[in-house]
Amino acid sequence: MSGLQLIDITKRYGAVTAVDGISLDVNDGTFVCLLGPSGCGKTTLLRMIAGLEDPTAGEIRLQGDRINETPAHKRNLGMVFQSLALFPHLSIGENISYPLKIRGASRADCEVRVRELLDMVQLPGVENRAITQLSGGQRQRVAIARALAVSPQLFLLDEPLSALDAKLREAMQVELRQLQQHLGITTIVVTHDQREAMSMSDQIVVMSNGKVEQMATPIEAYKRPASPFVADFLGQANLIRVQGSEAGAAFSGGNIPGLDLPAGGQTLISIRPEDIVVTADEGGPVKADIVFIREMGSTIEIHLDAGNERIIALAPPKSHCDLRIGTSVSLTLPPEACVVFGADGAS
Ligand code: ATP
Repeated sequence: MSGLQLIDITKRYGAVTAVDGISLDVNDGTFVCLLGPSGCGKTTLLRMIAGLEDPTAGEIRLQGDRINETPAHKRNLGMVFQSLALFPHLSIGENISYPLKIRGASRADCEVRVRELLDMVQLPGVENRAITQLSGGQRQRVAIARALAVSPQLFLLDEPLSALDAKLREAMQVELRQLQQHLGITTIVVTHDQREAMSMSDQIVVMSNGKVEQMATPIEAYKRPASPFVADFLGQANLIRVQGSEAGAAFSGGNIPGLDLPAGGQTLISIRPEDIVVTADEGGPVKADIVFIREMGSTIEIHLDAGNERIIALAPPKSHCDLRIGTSVSLTLPPEACVVFGADGAS
């Protein structure tokens, strides 16, 4: 069921339109990431869902009820901010029980719930310690425990992991996802990190300039991007301008046999580096010269010039030990791996 519905939501700050007519449905129990470059409106959208900003236009519904006028503290949601906003003068236990106390819970009930929550975020027994005695990752867990204290219907997080180092960040991504799956709570996370969004979510919402470019499962958005923007934003993409010909789509570097397009008209296509096949002979449909190679550990990244296009391909290690900068090679661009965008950029 679609528990949260945004209907044509717009937010303007004077002349700036931060969110521009966004409609989306979030099903109960799903993990959704709002993803996009800085300034695209992610935080503004999350804050409107939380009740911390009023939409200029549009409607927000929770379980079918309009909540535009419901104040933040009555929306039954838990929120984790980028800054965490923990109270440094309160103990860990007091931080976590703060929202419970505001709701009038007894001291004994608070103590039981704090122990439960600390077990859940894998920090048992630290309730009497000071916030200042915790590492970044541990503070993160306390902020999560506090947000979940009131068993919210909706769990909202704004760049929750951005202050953590890369390794801890990956570990916390797994923990956060496991916690969400265990609780089955509808969760919306704002991030500008596409790897984070791809690895955690059921659905990603790719945003640009206050609008939704695509809402889809991570794999669908990666394999079938709705626009060149999505293709480029989610990992690496080769965007190539082609035109229809008898030998398949053609560009300055050669042909893509099997990719049939109307003859003459120009179109943009996208293909992922790992889908391009590099072979050491020169007889293939696309001729290219290697201009740069770098070892990435589990793959080799090869930069090639094919006609007027710069193309990036990924190959397994050791398979190309005879390839060097300056070598001429052939590329195969499998037609089934190409996403064709219309003349206006839409797929
Ligand atoms: P970031 O990843 O940098 O946090 P974002 O995608 O979350 O970016 P928002 O913070 O939602 O983007 O901002 C969207 C646009 O709205 C930006 O142009 C921003 O400058 C503008 N904006 C946000 N809040 C306000 C405000 N209170 N007053 C005026 N303009 C604002």
